[in-house]
Amino acid sequence: MPPRYDLHSHSTASDGALSPRGLVRRAAEQGVEHLALTDHDTLAGLPEARDAAGEVGISLVPGVELSVLWGSRELHLLGLWVNPDDAGLRELVANQMAARERRARTMGERLDKAAGLANSYDRACALADSAAPGRPFFARLLLDAGKVRNFQHAFDRFLKQGRSAFVKTPWCELDEAVRVIDAAGGRAVLAHPARYGLTRRKLRQLLTDLVNAGGHGLEVATPGLSHDQRALLSACARDFPLAASAGSDFHSPEQHWLELGRLPELPTGTRAVWEAEVPA
Ligand code: MN
Ligand code: MN
Ligand code: MN
Repeated sequence: MPPRYDLHSHSTASDGALSPRGLVRRAAEQGVEHLALTDHDTLAGLPEARDAAGEVGISLVPGVELSVLWGSRELHLLGLWVNPDDAGLRELVANQMAARERRARTMGERLDKAAGLANSYDRACALADSAAPGRPFFARLLLDAGKVRNFQHAFDRFLKQGRSAFVKTPWCELDEAVRVIDAAGGRAVLAHPARYGLTRRKLRQLLTDLVNAGGHGLEVATPGLSHDQRALLSACARDFPLAASAGSDFHSPEQHWLELGRLPELPTGTRAVWEAEVPA
């Protein structure tokens, strides 16, 4: 059996439900041997996760999930095996967090108007225990106020790109993020490539740009892909000089349809992103 990897997960340091320690313990219970904690634009959960990984005897891959701009689109880029003490990375993350906070304030103001809520920003902050709550916390407010039927409806009606409470954020550019991750000793991996609604052609353009920027890989083994999506991503991982990664994007035990480490195999003919990290 090859070592079991899950290279994409979230803790309460961003929008996850479990503390870094709780997340690592759950990963160990699920048989994960190498877990990457990849919170959105923060490295804050990594020290606790590293200690917890030592306690339960699994390896923690220090990571981060950066929001980046590719043209006018917002994408997510994972930095895996980054040095959390790297000054350039810490500066980038601090800038991203400041942008997140401004975005959250504006989002709150817009939701107050558009959905007839009050003090959305402050209430989302309280829920998230953060000054920069992400969209899931605003979705929760909408749900609790009976303004939407479910989470997806909150995004479709108010929060997603093109809707009234969506706020464009000045994230860093894809190229810059790749450069900073690389300089921090990490590997830049495109997160959930099937989730951006790109045509086949656009996706190949994106991967070309990622390769040219010095990117390392793309996530291929993720839960919930359709047969066609899986075939497309597998082909991309073979056609481009990019490694294949595996990650659940676990946020919460309430997502009963996915679990840490419960991932499809990497497609044949692809190179694993962890190759050369761990001797066979
Ligand atoms: Mn998230
Ligand atoms: Mn993401
Ligand atoms: Mn994620």
